[in-house]
Amino acid sequence: MGEVTVVVLPGDGIGPEVIAQARRAVDAVAPAAGLSITWREELMGGCSIDAHGTALTDEVLAACKSADAVLLGAVGGPKWDTTDPDKPRPEQGLLGLRAGLGLFANLRPVKPLEALYDASPLRRDRIAGTDLLVVRELTGGIYFGKRGREGDMAYDTCAYSREEIARVAEVAFRAAAGRRGKVTSVDKANVLESSRLWREVVTELGASHPDIELEHILVDNAAMQLVSRPSDFDVIVTENMFGDILSDEAAMITGSIGMLPSASLGSGTAGLYEPVHGSAPDIAGKGWANPMATVLSAAMMLRHSFGAEEAAAKLEHAVETALAQGALGRDLGGQMGTQEISDRLLALL
Ligand code: NAD
Repeated sequence: MGEVTVVVLPGDGIGPEVIAQARRAVDAVAPAAGLSITWREELMGGCSIDAHGTALTDEVLAACKSADAVLLGAVGGPKWDTTDPDKPRPEQGLLGLRAGLGLFANLRPVKPLEALYDASPLRRDRIAGTDLLVVRELTGGIYFGKRGREGDMAYDTCAYSREEIARVAEVAFRAAAGRRGKVTSVDKANVLESSRLWREVVTELGASHPDIELEHILVDNAAMQLVSRPSDFDVIVTENMFGDILSDEAAMITGSIGMLPSASLGSGTAGLYEPVHGSAPDIAGKGWANPMATVLSAAMMLRHSFGAEEAAAKLEHAVETALAQGALGRDLGGQMGTQEISDRLLALL
């Protein structure tokens, strides 16, 4: 893809620690892929509140909009925790980015590596062979609907349009085409009207993807199936709140939050890439953060935004090999720190 600009938002807590290592890893594989990356570092989250009084400035949002991709660490921490609705909060930066960049699909791959099977709370025979992708709708549904209070009552509204459902479902069908060819759509169509529209639209779209197997399951059943037969899933597509919950449940199959990457995509190739974990204030500054989730997020960036499949696979393979050779962080019951894990990855790359 040639010359590209990536805005990096290290954020707070362990964010800057893991981002620095992901940049090192990407810089090690980019030249061979013909990529010349200009990194542009900006403030977002608590650090931006300290500097500018807001979690995301207009200038930073504009920089992200004109970039080819955005790589994010994590935001938040006790310093900025507040229940005062008038005070700025770090996660407002995340919501502002998703809305501003039109990122309506969140992709979270879950593929436990053999070296980590014993770190999973599930039995080895249950998780063996699991390789699934959760595609979560990110900008609609109950988190964005009308809400309010009336007297002693409070309400939140879940609304979806045909277009909102179709565009995220299309992402899921396309992803399945490059994988095992199966989409599981999760809804609550026996109760919710928005779910009945969801099922209707996904079924219609499925007809234009005859090579993809499509199944519909109810969200309560999905929650059970995810822990009883995770290896049967390929691509799971679902609305915002169900996806929020199911993707965290699916994440635990791998046994460590320090291993999970994510991508948030809109209609173009620009996207936002970030580890699933937060800013881990409990270990920030100690040099213990596992950088692998951020390295794997950077691999997703190379693949989805820059089409650099081989470079992405090199990063993923390095992570897999390092783990198999025992490069385990404290989150995985090992002793290795951030720098040591990163050095091991660089040596393999
Ligand atoms: P967290 O993911 O930050 O931490 C949960 C636990 O996992 C902690 O014990 C932490 O030490 C550990 N952990 C997380 N990432 C790790 C890594 N890479 N290596 C080793 N251990 C790791 O979740 P939390 O404690 O609920 O939240 C802490 C802060 O992060 C809060 O302010 C929260 O709002 C914020 N947060 C931000 C994001 C984001 O930026 N996208 C996501 C979740 C939470």
